[in-house]
Amino acid sequence: MGRITGPVCRLCRRDGLKLFLKGSRCDTPKCAIERRPTPPGMVQKRRPKPTDYGIHLREKQKVKHYYGVLERQFRTYFSRAARGKGNTGETLMALLERRLDNVIHRLGFAPSRAAARQVVLHGHITINGRRVDVPSYLVKAGDLVRVKNRSKSLQLVHSALADFRRDVPDFLSRGEGVIPEGRVDRLPLAEDVSIPVQANLIIELCSK
Ligand code: SF4
Repeated sequence: MGRITGPVCRLCRRDGLKLFLKGSRCDTPKCAIERRPTPPGMVQKRRPKPTDYGIHLREKQKVKHYYGVLERQFRTYFSRAARGKGNTGETLMALLERRLDNVIHRLGFAPSRAAARQVVLHGHITINGRRVDVPSYLVKAGDLVRVKNRSKSLQLVHSALADFRRDVPDFLSRGEGVIPEGRVDRLPLAEDVSIPVQANLIIELCSK
């Protein structure tokens, strides 16, 4: 049987790391990494040793693909993290983890961050009772993230929850009621990020 991978799976295979870009498929044995964790291509050529710059750049690209942010947005997060107190790398990762589309995905309300972005953009989500349709909205500790009480929104989110196989991260808790909701118990920390990232390499690259 032919391998169905597609461009997003190629990104995972290039890094040899599951970036969870393809929804529920990522949790099944059909995941391209589970089937063949080597870079794409029939013949495996020996790749040249990456340069120091290449190693730094790859960490940044990995994070950008994982959160689905473009370079300009990424620079904005970096500037904000650099202005803050504390470790810039940890602050950067915590900021990205606070994005509403990420929170929706990690609560299981959407199979991927790309799908979560659509859920938010189409107005299916409220925060503390008010509709929020901005995927980059940064949640705060204590926020109540709720799905709108209308059949289309509920149907969409219930079907995503039925296929959800991962644990909700420690900084979030999910309610068990008929209307899906989740609470931000605390601000996320660097350890709440579910892919291994060397944030210090990203900071070195962006600080040049
Ligand atoms: Fe494809 Fe998802 Fe597996 Fe990555 S984790 S290779 S996006 S199926």
